[in-house]
Amino acid sequence: MADGSGAVEKGFNGKMLNVNLTTGEITVENPPEDLYRQYLGGYGIGARMLWDRVPAGANPLGPENMLGIFPGLLTGTPLFGQRWQVVCKSPTTGGWGDANCGGDFGGQLKLSGWDGIMFFGKSPKPAYLLVDNEHAELRDASDLWGTGAITSETLLKERHGKRASIANIGQAGETLSYLSGICNDHGRLAARSGVGAVMGSKNLKAIVALADRKIIAQTGDITKMVRTNLDEFIKPLRDFFHTFGTTGITSMSALNGDSPVKNWGGVGVVDFPAETSGQIAGAVINTKMAKSYGCWHCPMACGAESVESGNPQYPYPKHTHRPEYEAMASFGTMNLINDPEALIYANHLCNEYGLDVIGAGVTASFAIECFEAGILTKEDTDGLVLSWGGASAMLELLKMIGERRGIGDTLADGVKVAAEKIGRGSERFAMHIGGQEIPMHDPKLQPEYHTTYKLDPTPARHTLYEANKRFGKIPPAPANNREYANRGEHHKGALEYMHMVNAGGMCEFVMMAANTANIPTWFNAVTGWDTDADEVMTIGERIANLRLAYEIREGGNPRKRHVPSRVTGHSSEGTHAGPLEGVKLDTELLETDFLKACDWDVETCKPSRAKLESLGLGDVAAVLHG
Ligand code: SF4
Repeated sequence: MADGSGAVEKGFNGKMLNVNLTTGEITVENPPEDLYRQYLGGYGIGARMLWDRVPAGANPLGPENMLGIFPGLLTGTPLFGQRWQVVCKSPTTGGWGDANCGGDFGGQLKLSGWDGIMFFGKSPKPAYLLVDNEHAELRDASDLWGTGAITSETLLKERHGKRASIANIGQAGETLSYLSGICNDHGRLAARSGVGAVMGSKNLKAIVALADRKIIAQTGDITKMVRTNLDEFIKPLRDFFHTFGTTGITSMSALNGDSPVKNWGGVGVVDFPAETSGQIAGAVINTKMAKSYGCWHCPMACGAESVESGNPQYPYPKHTHRPEYEAMASFGTMNLINDPEALIYANHLCNEYGLDVIGAGVTASFAIECFEAGILTKEDTDGLVLSWGGASAMLELLKMIGERRGIGDTLADGVKVAAEKIGRGSERFAMHIGGQEIPMHDPKLQPEYHTTYKLDPTPARHTLYEANKRFGKIPPAPANNREYANRGEHHKGALEYMHMVNAGGMCEFVMMAANTANIPTWFNAVTGWDTDADEVMTIGERIANLRLAYEIREGGNPRKRHVPSRVTGHSSEGTHAGPLEGVKLDTELLETDFLKACDWDVETCKPSRAKLESLGLGDVAAVLHG
C-alpha cells in the first residue's frame, strides 16, 4: 500500500510507484526535477530507469525484468499530450523494448498523481494494481485471468466505476505471446516489443487508475494558449484525420507502393488494384462506423467506433474501434482481403486477445504463403485451408494464435520463431527484422524507413521517422527519394524530433497538423522551464543514445540484422511492376551515412564515448567503453 501525497502542479507530479510483485511491497519514489528536464517522460525517463535498474543479461520474461509504464511530459495537461509508453527488456528481440500508446490511460494515470509505475518480480497469483489517486494496492485478478482485454476492462469498470481507466492484457499476454501488447480504452494497444508478454510473465493482468484531480496546469493562460495553437493547425490535414483516421490512406497506399502487398512479394496495382482496394477506402469503412473517437483530450480525434456488425460471420460488437492503417494493411493488402467487415473483425479480435495488429497480420501472411507453397498443409492447420484473400480462414487462424491453439501455438511468437519451428525453407517468407514483424510502410518509397527498421533499438518500427518541417530543426533530405546519399543528418534530426515528441507525450499525427515550432513553449508553459528548440532536440538525442546503449549492452548489434530482400528491393519479388519497379535501396550508404551523422560506430553501432559524455551519459560511456 502506498501513500504518495504532496503532488506538484507543473506538468509532472514528481512521484512514481515501485511495485514488487513478488513481495507485494509498493513504495513511492520522488525523482528529481532534473530527471524530467533530461528525459521529459514516457520512454525517455523509461530508458534511464531500465538502464539503471535491470541487470545486464536479464531474462526478459524473468522477475528481474522491469515493466515500466510512463505517461509523457505533457500527458494529462491541456497542451496536446495524449500518449503513454511501456518500457522493458523485449522478449521479441532480446534487447531494448518499448511501445507507445494513446487511449485514456496515460492522462488518467498522470491525473491520479503518478508519473510512472515500475513493476518488478512476479506475483504468486494473478493480480491487478488499483491506483486510486494517492492510494495504491494489489488485488487478486484470478477471476479475470483468461478473459480478453476488452472483456476484462468491462468487468473492471463494473467493479470500480465508469471513471476507472484500465490498462490490461488479453489471453495473448497471459500466454506470453511475443505478439502481445497492453490494451486500454477497449482497443488502443501499446503493441510492440512483446510488452504484453512481459506483463503476463509477472502475472499482472491490469492496472486500474482512478483520478479525481483536474487537468494538470490548466490555468487561464494555458487554456488561451491551447486555443491559439488550435488556430494554427493545418486544417485540411486535421479534417482528413478526423474524418477518416489513418484508415483513410489505405486504398491510396495500396497503389502508390507504400503498403506491402501479399507478404511483400506482390504489387498493389497488380494484386490489389483500385477496384479491389477501393472497397476498403476510408469512406466505405466509415459506413460501418457509429461515431468518432479521440484519445484523452485529443484535438484531432482520428478514431471512430463501429455500429454493431450485421454479418454473423464477422460478429464484432457495437463501438469496437475502426482499424487504423497498420491493421488495414497488415490484414488487408498483405493478405489480399478487402472485405471491410472482415477487417474490422480482425482488428476487434486483436484488441480482445491483446495482439499487435502488425505482428498478427504479418504472421497470418507468413502462414498463408507457407500454405500456398506446401510448407504447411491441412494436417498442420487442423484442416484450415489458408489462401490469399481467404478472410474466414485467416480470422480462424487469428483466434488460434490468440488462444495458442493448434498451429496458433507455433505462430503465437511471430514469424521468426514460427519459421525456426516449422523449418522446411519457411524462413524466406518470414518478414521480420531482429524478430519483429515489419510494418506497413515500404522503404523503397521512403528510404529512411530502411535505416530505422534495421538500426533502431526497436527494429521494424515505423513511428520513429517524421520529417516535420514546421519544427524548423530537421535538416532537409534530397527531394528525390531514389537518391540515397546525404540523408544521414536529416534522418538523425527526424529521429531525435520523434523521440522528443514521444517522450513529451504528444501524438505524431496531431503534430503533423500542429505548429510544432511551439513545442518548447508548451513544455515551458507547464513546467516553468526555459527550454528552446535546441535543448529539446538534445533531449531527443540523449534518448536515442541511451536506448541504443541499452541494446548494445545487452549484446545487440543492429548492423548485423538481416533485412529481407523483398524489402530492400534486392529481389524481383515486389519490384517486378508498379511504382517501385526495379527500385533497389543502397542499404550500405543509407546505414553508414546515418550512423556517421549520429557518431555511432559503423560496424557495431556503439555510440562514441565523446557523444555519450556530451549528452551527460558519462556513466553509460563507462559501461560501454570501459
Ligand atoms: S490523433 Fe488519433 S491516435 Fe493520435 S492521440 Fe488523437 S485520437 Fe489518438
